[in-house]
Order: sequence, then C-alpha cells, then structure tokens
Amino acid sequence: MRILIVDDEPAMHESYRRSFTCDDSGMAATLGEMAAELFGDDLAPDTVEHGPAFELTFALQGAEGVSAVADAMRDKKRFAVAFIDVRMPPGIDGRDTAQRIRALDPDIHIVIVTGYSDFTPTEIARVAGPPDKIFYIAKPFEVAEVQQMAIALGHRWEGDRELTAARETLAAQVRQLEEQGHELAANESRAMHLANHDSLTEAPNRLAFRRALSDRAKSGAQFAVAMVDLDRFKLVNDTLGHLAGDELIRTMCAVLQRSIPSGGMVARLGGDEFGLLFDTAGTDAAEQDCARIAKACASTFKVLGHSVQGGASIGLIATEPGESRDPVDLMRRADLALHDAKRDGRGIVRVYDDGMDETIRLRRAIETGLSGAIARNELSLAFQPIVEREQLEIVGFEALLRWETDTHGPIGPEVFVPIAEESNLIHEIGDWVVRESLKVLCEWPTQYVSVNFSPRQFRRHNFVARLIEEVQRAGVDPTRFQIEITETAIFDDADRAADTLYKLRQMGFRIALDDFGTGYSSLYNIRKFALDCLKIDRSFIDGMGRERESAAIVQSIIHLGRALGLGVVAEGVESEAQLQALRVAGCSHMQGFLFSRPVSKVFARQIALTRYMVDNGPPLPPEKPELLFGGSTVPQP
Ligand code: C2E
Ligand code: CA
Ligand code: CA
Repeated sequence: MRILIVDDEPAMHESYRRSFTCDDSGMAATLGEMAAELFGDDLAPDTVEHGPAFELTFALQGAEGVSAVADAMRDKKRFAVAFIDVRMPPGIDGRDTAQRIRALDPDIHIVIVTGYSDFTPTEIARVAGPPDKIFYIAKPFEVAEVQQMAIALGHRWEGDRELTAARETLAAQVRQLEEQGHELAANESRAMHLANHDSLTEAPNRLAFRRALSDRAKSGAQFAVAMVDLDRFKLVNDTLGHLAGDELIRTMCAVLQRSIPSGGMVARLGGDEFGLLFDTAGTDAAEQDCARIAKACASTFKVLGHSVQGGASIGLIATEPGESRDPVDLMRRADLALHDAKRDGRGIVRVYDDGMDETIRLRRAIETGLSGAIARNELSLAFQPIVEREQLEIVGFEALLRWETDTHGPIGPEVFVPIAEESNLIHEIGDWVVRESLKVLCEWPTQYVSVNFSPRQFRRHNFVARLIEEVQRAGVDPTRFQIEITETAIFDDADRAADTLYKLRQMGFRIALDDFGTGYSSLYNIRKFALDCLKIDRSFIDGMGRERESAAIVQSIIHLGRALGLGVVAEGVESEAQLQALRVAGCSHMQGFLFSRPVSKVFARQIALTRYMVDNGPPLPPEKPELLFGGSTVPQP
C-alpha cells in the first residue's frame, strides 16, 4: 500500500518512517494486531502476521507531492493515503497541495497534519473534495495515531477500489448485455422484415397484406381492395431476361406506390401480381382511383437500357357498409374481377360483381330453380327404413328430400337445404314435405314416418298449430309422425324450444334429436326436453371400428338414452360388424345402407305392407340396382 508524506521538515520524515517501518517482529505484530482489531476477519492472514506492507514516498514541498501523485497516476501505482503538512514555506501550503492532489486523484485519502488552526476543516474539504476523504491529525502526533490512521484509511481505500472495480465489471457486463439485446432486437426485426416483405421490391408480401386486410376489415371503416397484374410481363421476361423482368417489377412497384391514394398499401403478392389496399369509400371513387393507377402504369419505362411499355390490369372490390368483410373472400372477389379484366384486354379496371363468382352464380341458380321446383314437380321424397334391434323389423322410415332438376340433374339436400334455409323457401318446401309424408303415411299399416325439420322451421311462428292442422287434415295419428330436429334448433333458445317440444309431445308427436353428438349440447341438458329418441350421428358409427373415441361415444350415448328412457337410433350402419356391436351395446334402432338405402315411396309402401323383417324374410330386392338391401340382390316380391 502506497503512502505519500508531504512535509517540509526532514525530521518529520524520520518520525513517519519510524511509525511505518517494521524493523522488528514485535512492531510488525503490533501493527498486525491493530489491523485485525480494526478490520476483523476481512484481513488477509498475511497482513495479520507481518503487519500491512507500507511503501512510503516523501516530498519536502507541496509541488513535489503533487508531481509524485501525477507520476503515480500515470504509472497506475496510486497512493492510498497522503499525509500533508499545512505550512510548507516557501512553496504552496497544505490546502493548495491538497486541492491539486484531489484534482489528480479523486480516490486518495488526504490527511491534513497541522499544528495550528490555519484552516477550518470545512474550508479544506470545500477545495479538496469529499469530506469522507479528508482527515485531520494535530501536530505533534503519536506514532500509534498515524499508524492507526494509515491502516484504517489504507484498508478503506482498498475496499473502495475493489468496489469500483466490481462496479466497472458490472457496468461492462451490463453494456455487453445491452449490446447483445440490441443485436437480438435487430436480428428479430430483420427476421420480421424478411417474413413480411418481398425481397425483390422491399414491399410488404402476401402475409403482410392479409394481415393488414384483416385489421382493416375489423376496423369497421369502408375501404377498397384491388389486385393488380402486370400486362406483357411474360414477354419482357422471355425476351429481355429475368434481370429485366425483376427490374420491371421494381419499377412498377414504385409506380404503384406513387399513385395509390395516400395511406394505402402496395404489396407484392408473388410473380407480377400486386395487392392494393386503400381507404377510399364507395365503388365509384375507388374505381376512379384505380383508373388513375392503371394510367400511371401505362407509360414507357427504361428497363436495363431498353424501352418497355408498361401496363397493368386491375380487379377491384370496394366494401359497402354492412357487407361481408371476410379478408379471404375479399381477396378472392378482387381476384375474380382481375380475371375478368385480364380476359377483356390490357390496362382494364374491373369492379367485382356477383356474376363473376361461380359459387354465387350457382347459389342464385339454385335459389331461382328451387322457388319453382314444387310447381314443376321436381321434388320427391325418398324413404329410408329404420329397423328395431331384435328381428330387424322395419318400424319406420325417414323421409329424405330429393330434387331432380332439368338443368343440373339431381341436386342433393346437403346442397340445397342450407340455401333454402337462408330464404323463406324452406317454409314452402318444408310444408310440402310434411303434406307429402302424411299422404304416404296413410298408405302404411303401422310404421311411422320420421321427418327432418330445419331450425328455422322449428322456430317458425305457430309451428305447432300448423303441424296439428296438417295432421288432422290428413287424419293421421300423431304418434306415427316423428319430428327430427338438431341440437342447434333447440339449444339456441332452449326455453322456447322446451316449450314447443312439450306441446308437441302433449299432442302425441314423436321427437327425435338428430345428428346427436355433433353439436354442443351437454348430455345433462337434454333431460329438460321432451324427447323420444336420440339419433347417433353417422360419423360416430363410421368411426366405431377404427377409433376408440367413437366407440366410447356411441357406448355412452346408448347408456344415456337408456338411462333417460329414450330410444336410440344408430344412423349410417353399413356393416355386419357395426350391427353386432350396436346390438351388444343395447342400441334400440338402426338405419343405414346395410339394411336399405333410401327408396322411392312406391317401394317403401310395398315394404311397409309386408311388415318386413330383415332377419327372417328373404333379402329385399333393390328397386334400382343401387338400392342394395343387406348387400344382396334378389327378385322383387
Ligand atoms: P340426415 O338427417 O342426417 O340424413 C341422413 C343422411 O345419411 C341421408 O343423406 C341418408 O341418405 C344418408 N345415409 C343413410 N344411411 C347411410 C349409410 O349407411 N351410409 C352413408 N354414407 N349415408 C347414409 P341425404 O338424403 O343426402 O340427406 C342429407 C341431409 O339433408 C339430411 O341429413 C338432412 O339433414 C337433410 N335433409 C334431407 N331431407 C330433408 C328435409 O326434408 N328437410 C330438411 N330440413 N332437411 C332434410
Ligand atoms: Ca335426419
Ligand atoms: Ca342425421
């Protein structure tokens, strides 16, 4: 530990030297003990045994002391403590010396040694820095006094240095971490940029476009979406090469960015296709914007030294208030409009209309066709037998709607029923199904008919009264009329549904819960509805042999049905194995291709009249080759 002594009296130097020199072991031990007493266990054992090692430097004048400190700073061998005399003629006094030393070394402990009250401690502290690093000793001093002070201050100085060093290391580590953090953030934002931008043009890519579109769609404001395809791009690519093609794409992207209404987005969706998203409200205004954009694209550009005629076709859709805003659908429609534009030539802007959409066209065609289907006699009912578990006697038939069109051939109920459901057509068609079923029912001796009702029919005003009226008019016992409804129909408004079902049950109608298991009804909830049977959805029967879950679901539905005193009809039974498994599980009724496909009303009547049992009678012949019964084909009865 280095100590500086600044005193103009050589005799004083001698007394300091004596205070610090460990000339005999007794002295060393004394110093060691003293240090130990002062600092306890913090000291190195070496220090305790031999006393702290002091390296003394002497100066006779203030200026000499200051330069000793400067040297020490330069050589990185700093002093821990400086003992400074106050009066040192002819040079600078102790206060000035202290001030200059402090200016050089902020950490050094300064001990002012004074015989007179030349300066007050505050005065010196003011010029020579923090009060916790300035100390006083009065002359003449005791050896022990100086020793103790040197040891105490030296130790503190070392402690401070260690602390500073630790702080610096920590600061360095923090800096390093910060740098790493910055680098990570930079990497991440680079990755984000790459994921969301097209590398050729630096424009947002398809992903970013889709996201922006979703956000815009959610905002509720009106906006426009356009798809842009470059005209003659393939020609440039093929004749001038890919580099020219790339250059043209960059150029056109810049043109689009310049000409899109401010705040709009230009994204490169791939190849020579761009997507535009901008805030213009209303089709007319958006179309004008697009016409301007198309015009900007239709000029001559320099591409790698060649003059190239630019051009773009645009398909546009502008959202109307309250219209569907599904982003995928919007892009699809803008794309359909673009196809139309492309087909009609170059540089054309086309606004989407429903006529461009095949699915919408088909929908319209179905709607129109369906509204006249009854009058044209295109609807019919097919009947699929429902058998009981013991002898597989046919106890009822499910009525299934068929539509034979002149223009499109047969169209399945899965296609047209949902469309009818979206308009009031479902009521007209549903009424026809009920009347037709009742008519057929009159020709069967005992069997019941099971009729599908869509949720809208079920919720129709006066549903129960209408049905009762129809049944009475046909003179049929309501117990032979089963109403099939789905979970959606009853759980959307459970209280009202419970009430309707109760009334129907009171009148004697049978109620079946169709497609059971596919909806969201809790098993517990179905207790409060007046039901006769559950129909297990075909998908579970289909999965029975393959997936453990399906088999388990089938099992538990059957258990539940039995526990609630309900019948359970398994739909879509196609194999002998399924039949056996269902019988074992206790399923009360079955329906499916294994027994019969849906058959015509004429054929259904024949089967009904023979009170046919699949297990006992001869296999039933198919009415048409595809109407298999138990898989075998025999002559008609
Ligand atoms: P659903 O009520 O689940 O009718 C059962 C469907 O499964 C029928 O199809 C039937 O032909 C078919 N199917 C029966 N057994 C088997 C089998 O073993 N394997 C296979 N793969 N399929 C089988 P369909 O006739 O095409 O009817 C489809 C849906 O159309 C019906 O499903 C029903 O939701 C609806 N639907 C049919 N007729 C009417 C109706 O008059 N009114 C209403 N609202 N909906 C109807
Ligand atoms: Ca059904
Ligand atoms: Ca069903």
